[in-house]
Amino acid sequence: MPENVVIIGSGPAGWTAAIYAARANLNPVVYEGVPKQTPTIQLPGGQLMLTTEVENYPGFPNGVTGPEMMQLFKDQAVRFGTRVETLDVLKCDFSQRPFKLFTSDDKWIEAHAVIISTGASANWIGLANEMRLATSGGGVSACAVCDGALPAFRNQPVAVVGGGDTAMEEASFLTKFASKVYIIHRRDSFRASKVMQKRVLDNPKVVPVWNSTVQDVLGEAHITGLLLKNTVTGATSELPVKGMFVAIGHTPNTHFLEGTGVALDEKGYVKLTDGFRTLTNIEGVFGAGDVADQTYRQAISAAGMGCKAAIDAERWLAEHGVH
Ligand code: NAP
Repeated sequence: MPENVVIIGSGPAGWTAAIYAARANLNPVVYEGVPKQTPTIQLPGGQLMLTTEVENYPGFPNGVTGPEMMQLFKDQAVRFGTRVETLDVLKCDFSQRPFKLFTSDDKWIEAHAVIISTGASANWIGLANEMRLATSGGGVSACAVCDGALPAFRNQPVAVVGGGDTAMEEASFLTKFASKVYIIHRRDSFRASKVMQKRVLDNPKVVPVWNSTVQDVLGEAHITGLLLKNTVTGATSELPVKGMFVAIGHTPNTHFLEGTGVALDEKGYVKLTDGFRTLTNIEGVFGAGDVADQTYRQAISAAGMGCKAAIDAERWLAEHGVH
């Protein structure tokens, strides 16, 4: 028997979709993904598994860690009967209904509706100490809006790596808390829009560090500084900082959608046909969370999209007489 609804991905969007779908008696199954270490760490639960304290999600007045929060989401989904498979969906055939999904145990399943909530992974520089300190709460993060207000960064020098709009936004946000914000960029000019560059560079707390790459992240339990290399002269230097925020772009997790006909934008994000809803160009296939949202990328906005996707899927199934 085909599944009513298969949810691919297990971040805030996926689990919220599961909670809503389960409570609508759709008997959903979540493919939560297989943990991976290469090229960067990817875990069921998504980006929040690489976050320490979450202080901006309503309902947690004292904060909660990212992994704890994802476990709570999962528990809530399971409590209402969601089934969970620790497998990847490797390939999809959306050319006929029911849809066919090929999974990493060399099997396939059929589904009437599919919710894609596989997220977008932050790009990391790829240094061993960077990942170690990011996963241990040692002051390395890929989201200043999530982590920048933590006490460890208050009145301390911090660094943002990158030269795009996200780097500008993160730097601007960090000036509210940090004593100094270095922006380390590998070239001598930013890619970001001129207006955002100006806003940041006009701030006296901001110091651009041009033509520089991060060679290593220093510090044992917590970051103490960065080893930088000048891309023009080759000279290395140490920069003392108490935080590093990596803002070198995100990669949407949509490789398994190649050739399926699901419309993706030029960067590979799922294109929604109506920005207010979660419909894709293929009827019965819905997109929710960071995989379809480059703008907000927050747990709360992803969860909201997961809720919408479950309701959109439920309505679609009802219209097609499936449920
Ligand atoms: P982005 O525009 O792709 O910029 C990535 C930056 O990281 C670039 O400056 C790039 O350097 C640098 N970089 C990439 N790989 C690197 C590496 N391995 N080591 C060091 N540096 C590296 O990404 P984004 O800033 O996240 O922006 C993504 C999209 O969202 C953009 O279209 C942006 O306009 C949009 N956005 C808009 C807003 C807004 O309007 N408020 C805010 C945020 C994002 P190079 O420049 O040398 O390539």
